[in-house]
Amino acid sequence: MAYEIKDIEMKDDFKICPTCGYKDGFHSMFKKEGDVTRWLFICPSCHDVFDIGFTVQ
Ligand SMILES: [Zn+2]
Repeated sequence: MAYEIKDIEMKDDFKICPTCGYKDGFHSMFKKEGDVTRWLFICPSCHDVFDIGFTVQ
């Protein structure tokens, strides 16, 4: 499954999709890259994938 990950700088909150304007939050996904696991967010409406810099240990 190929998808583009969009890097986003979070402001006060991250609730509204920057791509389509959907405003009820995001689904989560996790992606292992070497020693780090990136915590990514998927818009339920347009399915764009966003990285706001979260990682999971
Ligand atoms: Zn969206």
